[in-house]
Amino acid sequence: MSYHCERCDRYFSPRGFEQHRRASQRHFYCDEHDMDFTSWVGLKEHWVQSPEHYYCQRCDKHLDYEEELEEHYEHEHHYCTEHKRVFYTPKGLKEHYVQHTDHFFCQYHNQHFDYVDEFLDHAERQHYVCRDCERIFGTSEKKEIHDEKHHPDDYW
Ligand SMILES: [Zn+2]
Ligand SMILES: [Zn+2]
Ligand SMILES: [Zn+2]
Ligand SMILES: [Zn+2]
Ligand SMILES: [Zn+2]
Ligand SMILES: [Zn+2]
Repeated sequence: MSYHCERCDRYFSPRGFEQHRRASQRHFYCDEHDMDFTSWVGLKEHWVQSPEHYYCQRCDKHLDYEEELEEHYEHEHHYCTEHKRVFYTPKGLKEHYVQHTDHFFCQYHNQHFDYVDEFLDHAERQHYVCRDCERIFGTSEKKEIHDEKHHPDDYW
């Protein structure tokens, strides 16, 4: 029994077909999902989209395990383990920390806190804080502007 490769219009033995698929420049094959792509770009896109592939697009690196990819993200890039999101600049991660209410992050000290109480205590000692909004401010002016805007009733 022989295999016909339609894309290449050639005949192979089953073994030869497998070898052909791997070696040929016309086939980009994912062993894991048994999927055959017509281009390198197509295969990479599949790697990016499939949660079963651990692929760093930025480095064009395919890893075997999720932990390996996370480790790679942590070492080579900037990674939020909580939200499993990767950032390629320290600024990107910092902005994520500031914006996301799940994170207790002091942008002035570049410091991440595990608990909101710890964070608010720090903020109260070192900065200006609105406990209602769990937000911190670098100057008293900024805090006042915030109060006027968000808490006009408390503001005399
Ligand atoms: Zn072929
Ligand atoms: Zn695959
Ligand atoms: Zn990478
Ligand atoms: Zn996060
Ligand atoms: Zn601080
Ligand atoms: Zn507030």
